Amino acid sequence: MAKQDYYEVLGVSKSATQSEIKKAYRKMAIKYHPDKNPDDKNAEEKFKLCAEAYEVLSDENKKARYDQYGHAAFEGGQGGFGGGGMNMDDIFSQFGDIFGGAFGGGFGGFGGGGQRQARVKGSNLRIRVKLTLEEIANGVEKKVKVRRKVQAEGVTYKTCTTCNGAGQQMRVTNTILGRMQTATTCGTCHGAGEMIGSKPNGSDAQGLIVKEETVSINIPEGVTEGVQLKVGGKGNEAPGKNSISGDLLVLIEEIPHETLKREGSNIHYDLYINFSEAVLGASKEVQTVTGKVKIKIEAGTQSGKILRLKGKGLPSIERYGNGDFLIHVNVWTPQELTKEQRKFFEQMQEDENFSPNPQKSDKSFFEKVKDMFS
Ligand SMILES: [Zn+2]
Repeated sequence: MAKQDYYEVLGVSKSATQSEIKKAYRKMAIKYHPDKNPDDKNAEEKFKLCAEAYEVLSDENKKARYDQYGHAAFEGGQGGFGGGGMNMDDIFSQFGDIFGGAFGGGFGGFGGGGQRQARVKGSNLRIRVKLTLEEIANGVEKKVKVRRKVQAEGVTYKTCTTCNGAGQQMRVTNTILGRMQTATTCGTCHGAGEMIGSKPNGSDAQGLIVKEETVSINIPEGVTEGVQLKVGGKGNEAPGKNSISGDLLVLIEEIPHETLKREGSNIHYDLYINFSEAVLGASKEVQTVTGKVKIKIEAGTQSGKILRLKGKGLPSIERYGNGDFLIHVNVWTPQELTKEQRKFFEQMQEDENFSPNPQKSDKSFFEKVKDMFS
């Protein structure tokens, strides 16, 4: 199958400027990024092809050769991509230039700069952090102890003697199509281009030791159970001078609150008032996640009424503005009565004023719940 023209791949004209080419590639890379298209082989192929096209067209030398000879200019392992196009590490290493580091997620912010071998990245560490509702409401800085692998003091690394630092070994094979040159990852250094020189006592085979370290994590307000935050570079270190550290992944857990219940960015609270407060009205103090709030219970308040404190709920990460604090008013019915009290209520049974007489404005419980979510 004939290979698609690089200009067509990026959707630019032959006279496109470098900044137009870069812009076009950025658009394509976002569109076909594997994180956005999981398990989509087609998107992955497109993604690779776009990267390859950009690799050539963004380099004035390669672009000139391509303009003159087309794809033939890069066959046979010249021009940087052996037989099978670019690999993912190469592609992500471009991203430092294209996205200015903003694409750090998982690819460690490679520096670009024409380096061929993949930079070795340490493995990620995972921890759980439990937060109270108040911490979630206000945001919090948490200090956690992590045990991470770091390069031992005094360890040295030297250029890999098998691949001379390239991280790859070229293999030439004879096939019916002629001599083929393929690149494989170096078996000695696994692509790092480096190997261990001197190894201090107590370190592992890669010159790493485990060290306990306190890491402070800034947790933004409004996080939810199950959210994963990333602290870049605070995972395990990897061996080698050019390696980069893995990340610390922080899984958020919520500690259930004793009296408050979270529902998205809204908070629900059950307020119990006594019989006479419902009848006569009262002033009450309610503890919200950001402090105490005084509320007024009107005389003649029905059990089940919901009072809404607008904006007194939790900040929302996705949306602007805060959720609400919803106070469910419950009238507490006395369960033990003195003789006099019993007499009082018995008399009231006959009283017209004590007969239920719901008005249209007294919404049923279900209507209130419907309102709340609308
Ligand atoms: Zn090597």
